[in-house]
Amino acid sequence: MSDWKKFLTEQRIAYFSMEIGLTAEIPTYSGGLGVLAGDTIKTAADLKIPLVAVTLLSRKGYFLQTIDDQGRQQESPNTWDPEKLLECLPAKTLLSIEGRDVKVQAWLYRVTSPSRGQVPVLFLDTDIPGNADEDRGITDYLYGGDQAYRLKQEIVLGIGGARLLAQLGFSIRKYHMNEGHASLLTLELLTRSRRPLEDTWDERNSWNTREVISKCVFTTHTPVRAGHDQFPYELVERILDHEIPLDLLKGLGGQEQLNMTLLAMNLSQYVNGVAKKHGEVSQAMFPGFEIHAITNGIHPFTWTSPYFVNLYGRYLPSWATEPEMLVRVDSIPDAEIWEAHCGAKAYLFQYISETCGIELDPDILTIGFARRVATYKRGDLIFTDLERLLRIGEGKLQLVFGGKAHPHDTPGKELIHRIMEVIASCRDRIRMVYLPNYNMEVASRLIPGVDLWLNTPMRPLEASGTSGMKAAINGVPNFSVLDGWWIEGHIEGVTGWSIGPPSKGNSTSQNHTAEDVEDLYAKLENTIMPLYYQDRAGWIRVMKNAIGKNAYYFNTHVMMRRYVTEAYCH
Ligand SMILES: *Cc1c(COP(=O)(O)O)cnc(C)c1O
Repeated sequence: MSDWKKFLTEQRIAYFSMEIGLTAEIPTYSGGLGVLAGDTIKTAADLKIPLVAVTLLSRKGYFLQTIDDQGRQQESPNTWDPEKLLECLPAKTLLSIEGRDVKVQAWLYRVTSPSRGQVPVLFLDTDIPGNADEDRGITDYLYGGDQAYRLKQEIVLGIGGARLLAQLGFSIRKYHMNEGHASLLTLELLTRSRRPLEDTWDERNSWNTREVISKCVFTTHTPVRAGHDQFPYELVERILDHEIPLDLLKGLGGQEQLNMTLLAMNLSQYVNGVAKKHGEVSQAMFPGFEIHAITNGIHPFTWTSPYFVNLYGRYLPSWATEPEMLVRVDSIPDAEIWEAHCGAKAYLFQYISETCGIELDPDILTIGFARRVATYKRGDLIFTDLERLLRIGEGKLQLVFGGKAHPHDTPGKELIHRIMEVIASCRDRIRMVYLPNYNMEVASRLIPGVDLWLNTPMRPLEASGTSGMKAAINGVPNFSVLDGWWIEGHIEGVTGWSIGPPSKGNSTSQNHTAEDVEDLYAKLENTIMPLYYQDRAGWIRVMKNAIGKNAYYFNTHVMMRRYVTEAYCH
């Protein structure tokens, strides 16, 4: 069991992420950010890229969601058992938080690829005898608690993580911060890099920011300022024990508040957004920095249903490690594509029948919409003109929804309630279901099993989006607002369909609700439904293009090769 020391023999990239989603059994993720982190790690294992990942143990997970009789989300802790899947490592490190000593330990999980590549993932844990009760809870809830709780978690992740890596003997070539939650690791590196005072001419100059910069890579995921973590300096000074002079810290992290995005950007050699558009929007928001773009991806094998795994395996044998081979999808007969899709659809409908007691009709065009519930994603946009939807879709459409709202997000929870009300009120005319507890397991059944994947965010707030890529690799075309990755993947009527006008400029408040709604209904009625019902060969052509023109490119294998050659190489 202790052969983990084999991971110490080569220099690694340390990949830090507040959430990591590897499997539904390890519920330490809330949505796309965590799933992306998990997919990144799996691809690193496939491609034998030397990586070590660091995250929090989140013993009580994000939360379990049920929907009650009134159609409201109910939450309960998602407690899991690290002992069963992970190995507790011997080293502990010591931090000072709010003036108290806090011990941190790490649990090891190994992500193993069929290529035999392996990536260690360290889950940080403060639930250790000797720590004060409140500190034992720091690594309990992902995104739980208040600002002080969040800051403590970020101290454990950034500073605790960097120290534990050193203590365990890892030799780190680059630190990759996946979003700003891990930015405090830069302060640990800054402290380490300090030159002896006698070698330099003043105090401030002893802090070697250039050395830190040369080691750090930062990926931002949020296109709005309000989405970036910020902490008042009073809170920082009360909770975080550090040696860095306050004027230097403010110079790096912002004068008013400690802004984690700014801190990371100031101390990283390479900064990127997660799609071309998102790179531009971020660049406009932070004009003083050079912001690159590497479009997100999905891990091919993880997100391909067993039906398509089987099919690709027969026609394009190396597809899972070389997803570029999907460009040859035309070598697969149409009938077999359709048959695989029908398999995935039946598998989903069986699951819906078991969990919701609702029977859907496999011959009806079925639309899917599932993701984290946040109001900017506009999950109820398709209900804007309910009468029109019913007129177009009665007997010819079915909808499947899913998604959790953050427990403190009252508007998000209201949105779920509203969707539940519409589902109930339309029961006799359009069959719709809301699948509870959307997680990786539910996603892997839901996405491949629908016919069309809907996405209706407010532009340009969908930094990338990845669920549409999961749809594409299963031959499910996207019907989406032109935002995030879809701007790059969309060819109208070829790979799928757009909704509404293209994003103009880089403003973060672009509202085209009326145009979006009109286009959504008109295209559904006049283009998409006729193609599905009257031209099956034409429909299968779009399915194949989703695979051959979207999935072959929008995956984490392509993405990681770019991180290696563009971000990690300097
Ligand atoms: C892929 C995935 C997401 C991301 O969905 P987007 O539509 O890209 O926001 C969220 N949650 C789960 C469980 C996922 O698997």
